Amino acid sequence: MLTKKIVPLQSFLSVVSRRAGHLAGRHYDVIVVGGGHAGTEAAAAAARVGAETLLVTQKIHTIGVLSCNPSLGGVGKGQLVKEVDALDGLCGRAGDWAGIYFSILNRRKGPAVWGPRAQLDRQRYREFIQSELLCTPRLTVLEGAVEELMVTDANPQEPGRHRVTGIRLANDSDPILASSVVLTTGTFLSGSLFMGRTTSPGGRIGDAPSSAGISNTLRDRLGLRMGRLKTGTPPRILKDSVDFSLAKFQPPDSIPSPFSFLNTHVRCKPEEQQSCYLTYTTPGVERVVRETLHLNCHVQQDTKGPRYCPSIESRVLRFPGRSHQVWLEPEGVNSDLLYPQGLTMTMPPEMQLRLIREIPPFHRAEIHTPGYGVHYDYVCPTQLSPALQVKSAQGLFLAGQINGTTGYEEAAAQGVWAGANAARSALSMPPVTLSRTESYIGVLIDDLVTRGVTEPYRMFTSRAEFRTSLRPDNADLRLTLKGFEEVGCVSSFRYQETVRVRDSLQEALTALQSLTMSPPAWRKKLPDIRMSEAKGNMLNGMEVLQYQDVSFEMLESVFPECLSPYKEFSQRLKIEVFLTFFHLSKRDIERIQREENMSLPQDIDYFSLPVSLSVEVRQILDRVRPSTLGAATRLPGVTPAAIVHLLNYVWHKG
Ligand code: FAD
Repeated sequence: MLTKKIVPLQSFLSVVSRRAGHLAGRHYDVIVVGGGHAGTEAAAAAARVGAETLLVTQKIHTIGVLSCNPSLGGVGKGQLVKEVDALDGLCGRAGDWAGIYFSILNRRKGPAVWGPRAQLDRQRYREFIQSELLCTPRLTVLEGAVEELMVTDANPQEPGRHRVTGIRLANDSDPILASSVVLTTGTFLSGSLFMGRTTSPGGRIGDAPSSAGISNTLRDRLGLRMGRLKTGTPPRILKDSVDFSLAKFQPPDSIPSPFSFLNTHVRCKPEEQQSCYLTYTTPGVERVVRETLHLNCHVQQDTKGPRYCPSIESRVLRFPGRSHQVWLEPEGVNSDLLYPQGLTMTMPPEMQLRLIREIPPFHRAEIHTPGYGVHYDYVCPTQLSPALQVKSAQGLFLAGQINGTTGYEEAAAQGVWAGANAARSALSMPPVTLSRTESYIGVLIDDLVTRGVTEPYRMFTSRAEFRTSLRPDNADLRLTLKGFEEVGCVSSFRYQETVRVRDSLQEALTALQSLTMSPPAWRKKLPDIRMSEAKGNMLNGMEVLQYQDVSFEMLESVFPECLSPYKEFSQRLKIEVFLTFFHLSKRDIERIQREENMSLPQDIDYFSLPVSLSVEVRQILDRVRPSTLGAATRLPGVTPAAIVHLLNYVWHKG
């Protein structure tokens, strides 16, 4: 079982400064403003890269709070969590610690679009993140509200280009100085909360908005284009008041899959997982929405909200006459509350009660906290570089909801990258970028900085053109080595572990290829396997493993001496092999088999090869320099399509 010593909040508070006075005038390499999902990842990443880092946030005890749904991951979002973990970020390990219901979404589709997801215990998630930050060397946490950003003109030769020099806190006259500042103010920038016809200033229920001073500096001093977006959250319902017999039970996966590449298990035992249920809205829900529209300011506003996580009001108005899904999700192991996913609403509280009671399991339900909406400022992200630095302000980086995204995972992904780049800038190292071909984080950042947003942006697998190779299972091979060698945000422990995994996978694929037999001989060894099309030709272990009904364990039971060292990689090997063959035509597979021994020139410059290869594939080929085409096919991360391109190139050259 996953074990961890959680440092209690009391001791956390005793070592961090609650008063800023003594920090005034002090210089940090990096200051991160905001302790949400972007800010915590940014601060931890900056410190890992080697920067003296200060995280300033309004309330220390809200660090790592899940503002809305108690869940992590999903389709597209799960890939981001795996990638943040591969870069040594926090959220994957926090998810394994706090998860109480695990499922891989899209399991019936190909492994490239599987979506690892977990319901979380809110308290455990927060504890983990806070404890991790406390134990991070070079990181100080300060409770305080940043009132103002300090900026100067950077260089007389570059009029209009500013330089950030630090921050000023509310009630503190002297600034705290920094070479880089990362702003991650989430939904707090000029935030206002909406419930019914009532509006009040706030970034989240119970929390004040971020001061107008920051928005003013961004807009007026730096001349940044800004916009306004909105989002909302459902009411929390008392669990005891819900009739679960009227909803459909949704079982979790029998064996939870960890998010983190460092974990083989999650903290929660399989049998301890909580329950989720599914139910549907009735025509009564639509009636209440329509009858209360005049009482609902949030819905009437033109400001854009999240299209893919819409309020019940928007769903009903957009698709009248339909019934809509509502998921009944736990909020934690010891929580009395239930999170009704799909019921975000902003009508007056008494109307919210009327609405939920139109849904059968909630006929007698009681609301603990009503739903509400929030409107906030965001910065049009096309004004950022791919390192997430504001182009017109040296040293100023932005990450998370402030860039127009929505979701914890999108925020965490930007946070880790902005934090690493902020540290590199402060330490006079060049910026690092991620391409669309090597990661979902690259897709996310590229979409933001080149296309911008017109509504809250969330990740989907369909946004990634190279999703077959950007899989959740291989995020470590794609990013950990780069994170260590080029970025500096990965520990040597994780790096060594990934090198071991990479080498073992290569060895395992070679071992599988060495097991060559005729189809009848294979059938004799594996009598339950059909292998219907396999006639005549010899088949190796890799080709046999591609069959749907063949598992690595089956092959291992037949060839234990050869394959048992690689047992821990059984699922990864199955996916790797399956995708190797899945995306090739029969003709291409036969060509590759025929040309297996084709030599690859050792002086080949993979980076300038005029064929369609991703940066990731070019890097792998350049690093390993396989001597034959067959050796190239066995490299994890080198896609089947890349092998075909390589084959065509060498063939025509030769
Ligand atoms: P946040 O998590 O918002 O963190 C911002 C942090 O900055 C906070 O800790 C705050 O205290 C701190 N801060 C702000 N200003 C200052 C300052 N001046 N000085 C010091 N500290 C400061 N996401 C979805 O995917 N789907 C949803 O349906 C959804 N609904 C939401 C509903 C509501 C009501 C809210 C509030 C959020 C919702 N979210 C939703 C968004 C989700 O919470 C965010 O996407 C995610 O938390 C963004 O992370 P972040 O780090 O950018 O900001």
